[in-house]
Formats: sequence, C-alpha cells, structure tokens
Amino acid sequence: MDEALRRVARAIEQAERILVITGAGLSADSGLPTYRGLGGLYNGHTAEGLPIEAALSGPMLRRDPALCWKYLAELGKACLGAAPNAGHLAIAELQRRKPGCWVLTQNIDGYHRAAGSPGERLIEIHGELAPLYCQSCGAEDSELAEHLQRPLPPRCRQCGGVLRPPVVLFEEMLPEAAVDSLYGELRKGFAVVLSVGTSASFPYIVEPVLRTRQAGGLSVEINPTLTDLSDVVDVRLAGRALDVLPELLGHISSDRICK
Ligand code: NAD
Ligand code: ZN
Repeated sequence: MDEALRRVARAIEQAERILVITGAGLSADSGLPTYRGLGGLYNGHTAEGLPIEAALSGPMLRRDPALCWKYLAELGKACLGAAPNAGHLAIAELQRRKPGCWVLTQNIDGYHRAAGSPGERLIEIHGELAPLYCQSCGAEDSELAEHLQRPLPPRCRQCGGVLRPPVVLFEEMLPEAAVDSLYGELRKGFAVVLSVGTSASFPYIVEPVLRTRQAGGLSVEINPTLTDLSDVVDVRLAGRALDVLPELLGHISSDRICK
C-alpha cells in the first residue's frame, strides 16, 4: 500500500489537472448510509419490496410522494445530523494546493462545500438536498429540518403543492450546467483521476476514468471493496477514504508541487 500511495502522491505532485470523483462511500465515514457496497442500506430491497432506484425515482415522487419522501427524509436526516470528515477536508486542502484540481461528486449532502472546496471547481452532478422548492408554484422553502419533523411529504406554505429537493432522482435528467462543466473540463483532460467511495454505477462517472487512462493519465480507486472500476484502474488503494486521503496528502510535499 505504501509504495502505491507514494506512486499516486508523486503523480499528483507533478500533475497540473486532477479530478477527484466522489460517491457515498466518502460520506460513509461521516456516518451517512451508502446505497450499495460496504455499509449499503439497500443492497437488497426497501421495506416495500422495491429496489431503491424505484423508491427514489422521479416517477415515484409523482405517483406516491409520501413513499419517495420516506427515503429522501432518511437521507436528509442523516445529512443534517452529520458533518464533513477528514476525507472531505483532505480533498479541500488538495484543491488549495493544486489550483487545477476539480471535484465531481454524486453526493447530495453538501459536505464538499462545507469542508471548503471552492464552488467554482465543484461539480455536484446529482444536485443538492436543499433548499426545497414547490413542484406546483416554484416557491423556495429553506426549512428542510422542520419539514422532516412533520408528516411527509412536505407541502408548500403558499399553495399546498408537494415540495421537493433540487436533487436528481433516478430516471431524471442531470442538471445541464453541471454536465456542460464536466464535459468542458474533460475535453481539457486530466493527468490524474481519483475515484473515491463510489460503486461507479453511472456512465458519466466511469467515462472520466477511462478517458484519463486512455490519454496516458493515472487512474486511482480508493475503496475498501471491489467495484466495476477495480480491474480498470492503474492503482487501487484498498481502504477507507477517511484513512487513505489524509495519508495520501501527507505524502505530497508542498514544495514539489507544480502550479
Ligand atoms: P454507492 O452507495 O453505490 O457505493 C458506495 C461505495 O462506497 C461502495 O463501493 C462502497 O464499497 C464504498 N465505501 C463504503 N464505505 C467506504 C469508505 N469508508 N471509504 C471509501 N469507500 C467506501 O454510492 P455511489 O456510487 O455514490 O452511488 C450513487 C448514488 O448514491 C448517487 O445517486 C448519490 O446521489 C447517492 N447517495 C448519496 C449520499 C450522500 O450524499 N452522502 C448517500 C447515499 C447515496
Ligand atoms: Zn407552491
């Protein structure tokens, strides 16, 4: 592990452009549930016998908002009740040291921003949990915490419509600005890509890893368990993000960083 860690650290020192891709596994060390893999809430089915992809989908929010909100509320309560961990902080510190370092996250918890990652180099491809907005009249509502204490689904104060978070549910489109930003940066290329705590279930998560590899860059996975990317990446650092990221940062000497 040490040798692999040093190899990654050296590549980061020399790289100008770096992409850190993060998934639920990074926030698992803050106590948040993941969907799949280690600590996965829904490796099987939900209590209703549905796959989580059906419960947390756009069609389900329309058909049975209370059921969809049951699982949104579970995530919401977990997010509000926890905080960024040393892994998020290490990524934010890496971005401070390396002005060409970007973060592409599937997480909706807002922890990258809270840890100090600059908004202009953060792509939240699945949106965010707050503020809620009304599906009928569009009014914004900033009281997520209060709504989670009341019967679900939360309703608009002005028109009684069902509120929703600005997240991308399963079977919904990705936010256009985030997609444009991602593909714009991918065209410029990355010298190193780190895939952290994600089962890499989506093509737009796998693609940056493959493109970086094909262009001769270094691809790295940080995950305690194997994923579909494990056989593809150049280096696998098998461990928890909370342990591996600060250790990796410790191997990156500030004076050898090229800007
Ligand atoms: P996932 O649940 O599919 O996979 C999580 C991965 O993290 C697994 O491969 C698991 O082995 C790994 N993992 C578990 N603990 C880890 C740790 N301590 N360190 C490093 N890796 C660890 O998550 P995903 O790939 O992000 O799935 C995508 C969906 O999950 C997205 O739609 C995302 O919006 C949603 N989600 C987000 C949150 C959040 O915002 N924190 C939480 C749960 C799910
Ligand atoms: Zn309304």
